[in-house]
Amino acid sequence: MKRRSLVSAAGLAVTVLASGSVWAQAYPNKTIKLQVPFAPGGTTDIVARVIAEPLGKVMGQSVIVENKAGGGGVVGASETMRAAPDGYSLGMATVSTTAANPAINPKIPYNVLTDFTPIINIAATPNVIAVHPSFPAKDYAGFLAELKKNPGKYSYASSGTGGIGHLQTELWKSLTGVFIAHIPYRGAGPALNDTVAGQVPIIFDNLPSALPFIRSGRLVPIVVAAPQRLAQLPNVPTFKEVGLEPVNRMAYYGILGPKNLPKEVVDKISEGVRKVLQDPAVSKRINDTGSLVVGNSPQEFAAQMKAEFEVYKKVVDQQKLKLD
Ligand code: GLU
Repeated sequence: MKRRSLVSAAGLAVTVLASGSVWAQAYPNKTIKLQVPFAPGGTTDIVARVIAEPLGKVMGQSVIVENKAGGGGVVGASETMRAAPDGYSLGMATVSTTAANPAINPKIPYNVLTDFTPIINIAATPNVIAVHPSFPAKDYAGFLAELKKNPGKYSYASSGTGGIGHLQTELWKSLTGVFIAHIPYRGAGPALNDTVAGQVPIIFDNLPSALPFIRSGRLVPIVVAAPQRLAQLPNVPTFKEVGLEPVNRMAYYGILGPKNLPKEVVDKISEGVRKVLQDPAVSKRINDTGSLVVGNSPQEFAAQMKAEFEVYKKVVDQQKLKLD
């Protein structure tokens, strides 16, 4: 009796496994949602929209971008975490949602190391501190002197509480001893709008979203986070050059899904994205924003997310950074 039920339990397991893999082979057979956990106009949105259409062509099903902003990206990332692990609800993985916010926010509703399936890192992007043209300084030395002379007079815009813009600027503040107040937005898009309109004098942003405003003279770049000076901004020093290496970290933009995504599905998406990135027109669009194309494996991206989370955790602990 006991033996029979064991056999039938084993038989059932085999049937379920077989149908699971048949199902995964048929993937995708409907529209895939790619969620952006920030408002339109930010770098997450830019990278997602560069990838979505060609990825849809490669996958044989449309990939639609959906913005779900709030909480420094945590609202959208939590929705992706709770989605069915079927490959039809994917999300953009950003430094803010997978490293910075998990490191600083004790109330975050997910465990970044266990609640997601990392799929691929699409691009690495430099970051920039930029000011409105009415700001009295146009270079890093003048910027620092102006802020030191006037503690509390200025504020800065970021893509959201606990995000990379917030955390890196707080790190920069604690290393330089200046004080500027933080104004969080629902993404870099609205943060840029207010900075360009002159309502906030300073912004910490990822380069792709800020670059068009810098090129048109509506923002003045002060300092960048990048391994070396950027071809797009040859006169702007890196944080490393001004003696602030810990702030000299880039951002990443990738794709993840909820935990337990079947391997076949993960492989199909990651191979699909890699194929898209091999298209010179797509990689040119990404490079033109000042970003570097990455396209690594799911295992590499998982290791990178973990490493980045650990870097931010250390920064938060060492600098005793706290959410306001
Ligand atoms: N700063 C965010 C990040 O790198 C993205 C902001 C946005 O796309 O609006 O994670």
